[in-house]
Amino acid sequence: MEVEMDKLVSLCKRRGFVFPSSEVYGGINGFWDYGPLGVELKRNIKEAWWRDNVQMRDDMVGLDCSIIMNPKVWEASGHVGGFSDPMVDCRASKERYRADQLYVFVYIFPAVNHKGEPTEAWLAGLGASPEDAAEAPEKRAAKLAKKFGKPTDPPTVIPYMQIDVADREKVIGPSTEDRGTLTEPRSFNLMFKTFVGALEHESNVAYLRPETAQGIFANFKNVVDTARVKLPFGIAQIGKSFRNEINPRNFTFRSREFEQMEIEFFCRPEEAPEWYAYWRKARFEWYTSLGLKSEKLRLRDHDAEELAFYSTATADIEYAFPFGVSELEGVAHRGDYDLTQHMKFSGKDLSYFDEERKERFTPHVVEPSAGADRATLAFLCEAYTEDEVGGESRTVLKFHPRIAPVKAAVFPLVKRDGMPEKAEAIYRELKKHNNVYYDEKGAIGRRYRRQDEAGTPFCITVDSQTTTDDTVTFRDRDSCRQWRVPAAGAAQALRDLLEGRSIPEGA
Ligand code: ATP
Repeated sequence: MEVEMDKLVSLCKRRGFVFPSSEVYGGINGFWDYGPLGVELKRNIKEAWWRDNVQMRDDMVGLDCSIIMNPKVWEASGHVGGFSDPMVDCRASKERYRADQLYVFVYIFPAVNHKGEPTEAWLAGLGASPEDAAEAPEKRAAKLAKKFGKPTDPPTVIPYMQIDVADREKVIGPSTEDRGTLTEPRSFNLMFKTFVGALEHESNVAYLRPETAQGIFANFKNVVDTARVKLPFGIAQIGKSFRNEINPRNFTFRSREFEQMEIEFFCRPEEAPEWYAYWRKARFEWYTSLGLKSEKLRLRDHDAEELAFYSTATADIEYAFPFGVSELEGVAHRGDYDLTQHMKFSGKDLSYFDEERKERFTPHVVEPSAGADRATLAFLCEAYTEDEVGGESRTVLKFHPRIAPVKAAVFPLVKRDGMPEKAEAIYRELKKHNNVYYDEKGAIGRRYRRQDEAGTPFCITVDSQTTTDDTVTFRDRDSCRQWRVPAAGAAQALRDLLEGRSIPEGA
């Protein structure tokens, strides 16, 4: 089903998945907090990534680097010189846009100026692609028709960056109704700057890392010297990154503080194309294994113009979010660019010696670089479902059990006849192994709905039959099917279900 972003954002707020950061003070643009359910969801995603990519493999080790590093790291990586986006300001609305995400829809409005000539007004729309940007200009063109007359139809579309300087005065910015309010694009470095130590002097400038990858390259030699790794092997890291994005938007999708899950996979140069093909496929399949099964997940290879100059191949794993198809993860064949740069800037030898072949060389790198927040958002979008149960509509988050924040909820049907005591004992037992929830308040139907909205895969209810035969009712979130399980076997039954055992026949 198509999710409406407003509904998802409101569910996230209402149920404690995601809150605007420092909301009591009016929030701060581009920063988000994960609430009690959200933190469990995001942790489960990061833990699944770590388990599958690090602990389950024989050729991967982990790392946890500092966020602030020697600023030379960012000179070597090219971030000081080149990590910038072109920025355009609107003089009227004071909004700021990424020029490469502005598309101009050239409508000719038939209104005439004082000389009796038709006036051209070109509408700018904001989005990652012309398709994303298209909706707003259409509505705005209809609105502006009152002022300018009915426009020519359909418009031609040009990226803002390609418009002649002389023609830019015809452009109406995304949030005004006046022409010519957008400034020339200017380059804007996305790194957050700070000072280390007491003196706010240029010589003490440092940066909050804009990616976790460089910490891995900077530690390449440490890992090779200490971890007994042999090529091919990877180094993985999960951690916060910071980018002073010009235009944070689409909920958590583009934030200024976010978490990355990155792998640098080092190999012999001649084996790199094979490893690139391997990781491109493996990373795509990781998302499908956790429930991003639909046709909304895509793998898009970059064409030659899109590639960074050092990369011979890059693919984006994309998801069709309600606001457009956008990148979840990039998988790039980066050659030996990064290690070579760090050798140049540090003066240290970061080459690798192959003991068996008695050869020294600089390894090549394949980098699968994912965002934990974007993955969390995609899993939320995918899980969000509205359906009807027994004639009543409900909202349910159909998370894969592995990432569901709460694995099971335990209820006494009513607060008497020893049911709360029995239910609590089961809850305590389950809690030893899983994040489970106990609830005895309100009608049972309401309690089920609350868990559906939290994405809890199973509910376990102690009812009047429990007192006679010591069985409890299991209920499945997605199908709402119910079946009975001996109370003593509840913990094992839940473990089996979470590991993928199917629901008993006839339930
Ligand atoms: P975009 O083009 O969307 O800005 P990018 O290509 O610059 O992204 P990378 O530098 O390849 O992104 O970063 C790797 C991953 O880090 C992205 O695929 C994404 O999941 C995550 N990421 C990057 N920037 C942000 C951000 N501002 N907010 C949340 N996640 C981000």
